[in-house]
Amino acid sequence: MPDVLFNFYSDTVTKPSAGMREAIARAEVGDDMSGEDPTVNRLEALMAKTLGKEAAVFACSGTQSNQMGVKTHCLPGDELLIEQSGHIACFEAGGPAVLSGVTCRTIPGRLGMLDIADLEGKVRADNQHLCVTRLLCLENTTNVGGGRAWPLDQLARVCRWAHDNGLKTHLDGARLFNACIAKGCSAAEIGQHFDTISICFSKGLGCPMGSVLVGSSDDIRKARRIRKLFGGAMRQAGIVAAAAVFAMENNVERLAIDHDNAKLLAREIAKIDGLSIQLDDVETNLVFFEVDPKLGNAAQFSSALLERGVKIGASGAQRLRACTHLDVSRDDVSRAAEILRQTVQAGFHQYKGSATGPYSRA
Ligand SMILES: *Cc1c(COP(=O)(O)O)cnc(C)c1O
Repeated sequence: MPDVLFNFYSDTVTKPSAGMREAIARAEVGDDMSGEDPTVNRLEALMAKTLGKEAAVFACSGTQSNQMGVKTHCLPGDELLIEQSGHIACFEAGGPAVLSGVTCRTIPGRLGMLDIADLEGKVRADNQHLCVTRLLCLENTTNVGGGRAWPLDQLARVCRWAHDNGLKTHLDGARLFNACIAKGCSAAEIGQHFDTISICFSKGLGCPMGSVLVGSSDDIRKARRIRKLFGGAMRQAGIVAAAAVFAMENNVERLAIDHDNAKLLAREIAKIDGLSIQLDDVETNLVFFEVDPKLGNAAQFSSALLERGVKIGASGAQRLRACTHLDVSRDDVSRAAEILRQTVQAGFHQYKGSATGPYSRA
C-alpha cells in the first residue's frame, strides 16, 4: 500500500502544528482534578465566555462530553429526542443506554436537522406506562446530515419549542465553529438556545485531543462529578488544554479556508462522470458524494483511491465523505481531484469493498 498523500478521511487526522506543539511544551500545569491546572482553568473560562455561559468542564473527547451532557440532564428510564442520523444515537457505542439508562427516540429529519413539525407529538404524556421525555439533542454542524449549519431562526424555534415543552436542550457542537463561520455568527448566538453545549478540539481545530462541555454553573458542577465517574477527570491536563487555547486563538477564523476548499473539491467532483454531488449541499468542510452503482460501490472506490494515495472513506453503500481540514491545502485538493478523475476512468469494480457500506452488515 503506498503512502497516503492526501488524507480527506476525517478532520480528526490533523497533527499538531509547530506552533501548537510549542504552546504544549510551554504549558503551565497543575493537578486539574483539584482545580489547580492554570491552563485548563484558562481554557474553561475562555470557553464559558465564548459560549455566553457560566461554566465549562474540559473532557477527553466529544463522545465523553456529549455523554456527560446526557447524564447531566437525564435519569435512568428517561428518553432523549434526536434526529435519526445524530452522533449521540448512532456513533457513541450505545452510550446513552449504557452510561445513563436513557433511550434515544430517533426522528427522521432533513440534512440531520429537525423542525417543530417533526417534533410535535413526540413528548410523551405523564403516564405510568411511558418513559419520561427529558432532553432534545441537536447537532451543529450536522455530520452524517451533510456538514450543514442550522439556520439560526430554525435553531431558535426548535429550542424554544423544547423548553416550552419542559425539555432540556443539548447541542452536539463537535463542529460548532464550522457552523459559526458558515453562518457568520458568534458561538454565543448559537449557544444561547441550549442548556449544555459540547465542543470538540480534535476536529477542524487541529488539536490532538480534548473537548469541553459548557453550561450553567449547576449543570457543570454535576457534569464534573459525571466526568470523574466516566474516568475522564485528568491530572496535568494543561498539556492538552494548551493546544485548545492555541486553537481558539489561531485556528477558528481559518476554518473559512476549509470551507472554500470543500467547495472547490465539490466542484471538481461534479465534473467527473460517474460521481454525483449536490453542490448546494456543501456548506462547510464535509463533502458527501455518490458513485454510480454501474461502476461499483463506495467501498471499492475508497480502496482504489487509497492505492493511489487518496484517503476518502465510504459512508454508505454508494456514498463517500471527504473532509477538508488544516492539513490539506488548496493545491492538495486540486491534485487529489485529478486522482479521483483518473481512478473513475481506470475503473474500480475489481477492488474489495463491502456493498452495504461501513455501517450495515452484508
Ligand atoms: C466527531 C464527533 C463527535 C465526537 O467524537 P469523538 O471521536 O469522541 O471526538 C461528536 N459528534 C459529532 C457530530 C462528531 O462528528
